[in-house]
Amino acid sequence: MKNRTINKVLVANRGEIAIRIFRACTELNIRTVAIYSAEDSGSYHRYKADEAYLVGKGKKPIDAYLDIEGIIEIAKANDVDAIHPGYGFLSENAEFCKRCDEEGIIFIGPKMEHLITFGDKAKARDAAVTAGIPVVPGSDGPIQSIEEAQAFAEAYGFPIMIKAVLGGGGRGMRIVRSKQGLKDAYERAKSEAKATFGQDDIYVEKYLESPRHIEVQIIADSHGHTLHLLERDCSVQRRHQKVVEIAPSRHLSDKLREGMHEAAVKLMANVNYLNAGTVEFLVTPDEQFYFIEVNPRVQVEHTITELITGVDIVQTQILIAEGHDLFEAPLSLPKQEAVRANGYAIQCRVTTEDPANQFMPDTGKIMAYRTGGGFGVRLDAGNGYQGAVITPHYDSLLVKVSTWALTFEAAAAKMVRNLKEFRIRGIKTNIAFLENVVTHPSFVEGSVDTTFIDATPELFV
Ligand code: ADP
Repeated sequence: MKNRTINKVLVANRGEIAIRIFRACTELNIRTVAIYSAEDSGSYHRYKADEAYLVGKGKKPIDAYLDIEGIIEIAKANDVDAIHPGYGFLSENAEFCKRCDEEGIIFIGPKMEHLITFGDKAKARDAAVTAGIPVVPGSDGPIQSIEEAQAFAEAYGFPIMIKAVLGGGGRGMRIVRSKQGLKDAYERAKSEAKATFGQDDIYVEKYLESPRHIEVQIIADSHGHTLHLLERDCSVQRRHQKVVEIAPSRHLSDKLREGMHEAAVKLMANVNYLNAGTVEFLVTPDEQFYFIEVNPRVQVEHTITELITGVDIVQTQILIAEGHDLFEAPLSLPKQEAVRANGYAIQCRVTTEDPANQFMPDTGKIMAYRTGGGFGVRLDAGNGYQGAVITPHYDSLLVKVSTWALTFEAAAAKMVRNLKEFRIRGIKTNIAFLENVVTHPSFVEGSVDTTFIDATPELFV
């Protein structure tokens, strides 16, 4: 690909990730453009960009950031060369990627075909099978009837998992443990999929007991290079959503670790992937790994990979979009054999959720906001300041706290110390809960799987 110069980037997102991307741009001497909904007129990301424009007038708060034509119009009217979609919102929307292409605006992400393949969990599984990568045993594409689900369960045994083809963010999944529960689960899964994702296609797969969630960070350029930046362990989840992440993973044999790295590179190289993406696997207690999905975008937890590898993933995304080669200036990334983990990093997602009230998102004004800090600490905040108003309209992530140290134990100690230093008043947060998680013996020892939080009631007190 010929090099294209990016002088101005619009971030089609809000909160911490918008600010993260503005920072990357500014360091690359690129001018930044924010968009904000009417409800976000006081939000921090608006003030962190060189220019900011109201988007989605008259639309619902979420829909403002999904207003494809409104965003394109702002981009065109303000000489924007490229759009970074962040995560969530339009980041995996093939139509948005297409509209950017049509208007000659660079979409900082993969190609449209990748969004189509990986946005659909059944198609993603097919791509993995084609690349010869083990997938969790499952139905051959979407199922059309409850009889198909039944036949699958008879062949593979319960428990099984029903998944929405368009599912994401831990939603659209149901565990079925017996024949009696199947009919009800099937019907609910279908109607939920329709209501949440606008389409009721579902498929079934074997439910793995007590797996760990390990994912491999990939970056690929337009010169045929696909590089992995090691793995993250995201097993600490609540209701299938990540809460605490670690890089690199612990207690994993070299064979298993390298097997996943190789599989991830193979899959992404096989589809000619472009830009940053993550290949997710589940690892069973008997050390088998299975592909579950690809996230074709930057992820919330990219920070910890940056801390252990030293690679700025967002800047890499922008430079790849300009057409640069991974191994030449200005990127000059290490060759695969030289990509090594330096120490350990941990990320905690501090949210405005109330652990005492089933993690209901809290809203209101932040009256006091004091954070931790110091050596080996990274904070990525959205509206993290005194006087900020947290509205009910968007996700509840307030600040990501990442710590880095040469050993896992030191990184964990740093995390505990940092969480303790936080003082947030006026709004409830999950900080006390996070402290319980990172001080729990199972976490410290490194033996947690995806069932840890839900199966450990003492974390909730
Ligand atoms: P989403 O796209 O909603 O994030 P994923 O497919 O990435 O969904 O799965 C999220 C989490 O759900 C996994 O990390 C794991 O904890 C759980 N999960 C998904 N599929 C299975 C499965 N087949 N067996 C056991 N757990 C699963």
